[in-house]
Amino acid sequence: MSKFSEYLPIYEGDRFCLMCGQACPVRRVTKNEATSPHGWALLVASVQRGMLQWNAETVDVLYHCADCGNCQGNCATDRPLPYAIQAARDEVVRLGHAPASVKAVEEKLRAWGNPFRQQTPDDRAQTGISGVCNRTQQSSVLFVGDAAYFLKPEIISAAEKLLNAIGVNATRFAAGHSSGYLAYTLGLWETARRFANDIAQNLKTSGATRVITLSTQDAHALQHVYAELGVSLPDGVNVSTLVDVLVNAGDKLKINSRAPQAYTYHDPSQAIRLKHHALNARVLATQAMGAEPREMLFRENLATPIGTSGGLQFTQPALAENLARTRIAEARAIGAEIILTDDPLDTATLEKYADGMQVMNLYEVLTEQLEQ
Ligand code: SF4
Repeated sequence: MSKFSEYLPIYEGDRFCLMCGQACPVRRVTKNEATSPHGWALLVASVQRGMLQWNAETVDVLYHCADCGNCQGNCATDRPLPYAIQAARDEVVRLGHAPASVKAVEEKLRAWGNPFRQQTPDDRAQTGISGVCNRTQQSSVLFVGDAAYFLKPEIISAAEKLLNAIGVNATRFAAGHSSGYLAYTLGLWETARRFANDIAQNLKTSGATRVITLSTQDAHALQHVYAELGVSLPDGVNVSTLVDVLVNAGDKLKINSRAPQAYTYHDPSQAIRLKHHALNARVLATQAMGAEPREMLFRENLATPIGTSGGLQFTQPALAENLARTRIAEARAIGAEIILTDDPLDTATLEKYADGMQVMNLYEVLTEQLEQ
């Protein structure tokens, strides 16, 4: 049975439930009930009932969901609507209705393993993806992914300095390679499964038991999305973000605080799905920035995504930009001079739309503030 069939009761059951509508950031900016949690459930259920067909217009509506997780995170019964919407995209692709923008991303992913550059990493043979990892086997690997490698390489160096400071030796892994999240959320499940299987196989070869991710999106992919795709990581492999590893290092991480400035913390893409991430990131931010963050209204379980999840930056660029600019406006509205985040893609995206707001990456700030 496909995941789509498994989720049929979710589309049916959620189509007239309005309880999580207030949590949906896409509905908030589009002000359109068609692009809301119950709107997407009603759309898929209506196609199943023969009242609508998949065509360019209905498929375009389906591809407006940001897959941010806020509806599930604010559901009293934890209904997995975001997973159901991504499974419906897989169904749409399998029926031959993939939008042109999705096909374009698929070509890039198949050719280059990432959507950002028409290039494979220089050290691909040693990243544990295209070939057997030929470095000494280690218990920890740093899952670099594609966004940090191509858009914010300075964050990789910062992460390595932090790991070194707490005595963790971690080999770079999947540097320049997508985790498969983007293919998954665009409904390209065949490609996503291939990426997930490559990563699982190369983790097995590496012998690593701990995967430390730079990206919250990649942590979500390995912790939750691979199970949706039917791919298992090797037994005993633990996945956590670098934020969690640093907090759990306790006194080993010695940080001098910066002179306090008005700043806020942006919960990055998929952080809502990672237990303790919101709290742990704020602990580190407070240590490095010398004060607690000023908080935006839409944070933690209600965080506004910035177009980096759900594939929106590729399928709905205007909506993605609107969400990112909304986030910057929310930071400005509470008097923040700085917006701080940890995920590399969210850092790069906030920088793109900053409009005078200073954007800082948590790992880079922590590295600058390390006690010498
Ligand atoms: S995953 Fe996010 S964008 Fe999609 S329906 Fe849920 S709250 Fe709305």
